[in-house]
Amino acid sequence: MNTISMLIDGQTVAAADGSTFERLNPLDGSLATTAPAASAADARSAADAAAKAFPAWAAMGPGERRKLLMKAAVALEAQGDAFAQAMARETGASGLWAGFNVHLAADMLLEAAALTTQVSGELIPSDLPGSLATAVRQPAGVVLGIAPWNAPVILGVRAIAVPLAMGNTVVLKGSELCPATHGLIIQALQEAGLPPGVVNFVTNAPADAATVVEALIAHPAVKRVNFTGSTHVGKIIAATCAKYLKPSVLELGGKAPLLVLDDADLEAAVNGAIFGAFANSGQICMSTERIVVDESVADEFVARFAARAAALPLGDPRLGPTVLGSVVGQATVDRCNALIDDALAHGATLVCGGRADSTLMPATVLDHVTPAMRLYSEESFGPVKGVVRVAGEDAAVACANDNPFGLSAAVFTRDTARGWRVAQRIESGICHINGPTVHDEAQMPFGGVKGSGWGRFGGRAGMEAFTELRWITLQTGPRHYPF
Ligand code: NAD
Repeated sequence: MNTISMLIDGQTVAAADGSTFERLNPLDGSLATTAPAASAADARSAADAAAKAFPAWAAMGPGERRKLLMKAAVALEAQGDAFAQAMARETGASGLWAGFNVHLAADMLLEAAALTTQVSGELIPSDLPGSLATAVRQPAGVVLGIAPWNAPVILGVRAIAVPLAMGNTVVLKGSELCPATHGLIIQALQEAGLPPGVVNFVTNAPADAATVVEALIAHPAVKRVNFTGSTHVGKIIAATCAKYLKPSVLELGGKAPLLVLDDADLEAAVNGAIFGAFANSGQICMSTERIVVDESVADEFVARFAARAAALPLGDPRLGPTVLGSVVGQATVDRCNALIDDALAHGATLVCGGRADSTLMPATVLDHVTPAMRLYSEESFGPVKGVVRVAGEDAAVACANDNPFGLSAAVFTRDTARGWRVAQRIESGICHINGPTVHDEAQMPFGGVKGSGWGRFGGRAGMEAFTELRWITLQTGPRHYPF
């Protein structure tokens, strides 16, 4: 019943050799999904189909592309329940997180639809008499999108929506951990009536990821690559893109700091920290991972934060509403338990939660975290959060920047001008003053610096990432040549 197909050239297909792989539910090990295990040859067929569909899609008027993307947004939202079931089955996510995913993903399709008519160019004054010089944006070709499991609907849609709007055709390489969830996105796009080959979908067994991904990046028709996932794999993708000279957008890991300055509204800061730290059990690239609190307000902040964290509902999302569902797998439990043990061994204080013995992990807060602890610098990507106490604004900024990542950040202060100055000093792609580190909107330039990657999705930045900028001139009069 939960067997899914790939989509190549408008056809739902299995792997050519019939291979499949299974995704099991992280909580009880029951079979969640059986999906095709593509080979490199299957991957190349998908890129071939996208290449064949490219000229007609690129030539289609923007109004027509816009209509199709708007229909896809409606088709996606109509599948809200199916997405929630697939996410609970495959990744253990709560219904709350699934609903947010579908809503924002539909918005991303609508925003992409709106961008179809916003592609613009320039007339550039030329020194050459009679030369009408232009800079114009054209579709790039086939775009490869590689999306992870943690915000599967948002990130699967993000990987392909603006590329499609700009007139590119796409291949989405689904995550091994949520192939059915990613497959539902493709189904919605098909229901909207996109022509065959415009969207293609490939799934692979975990052991084949490197082969399938390299076959796709190497394919001559693939002109852009976007990857959302870990920094570790992001570096492999960057190296493979360098080998084949393919431009990439890389959205990688994070270790978002949330700064609570001495004049912060503590109620607002606690609310922002609870949401940012524990939405989707901390498995969001923008998750609040380090709470950097001025020592003058730390006792009160920690007491209020821990009381709220300890009260968050935790349970099997298949059985009903919850805030903390199951984390994605035992590896997350093991990693987070090791981070807790290490922090305690180096002098941290456990203020709520603690080691987990299943994928139902409680909200865990450790106070007095220092640079000597792994939790200070490593991404937990789970519901385990450290509080670092600092003395003053400069120390807070230094702590925020003392990290290899730079995706999102937040600063809480009642003095908004001070908040602005602090935000400008933080090394991150995104920073919210008096708002949580977890915040995304389709039209915003989303992306990171340092180990969090390069390039931006969303809005004008996304249009630039997924088009080719051409210099085209028209000689309107006689041209002088030196010989
Ligand atoms: P991951 O890097 O383990 O896997 C992502 C993808 O990489 C998968 O599709 C997999 O097939 C592929 N892959 C694995 N090994 C490969 C190899 N050797 N060669 C080529 N491809 C390979 O990431 P994940 O665990 O699925 O996602 C979690 C990570 O993603 C976290 O670090 C999180 O912070 C990050 N993330 C970033 C953003 C962002 O926008 N910056 C958003 C969500 C998640």
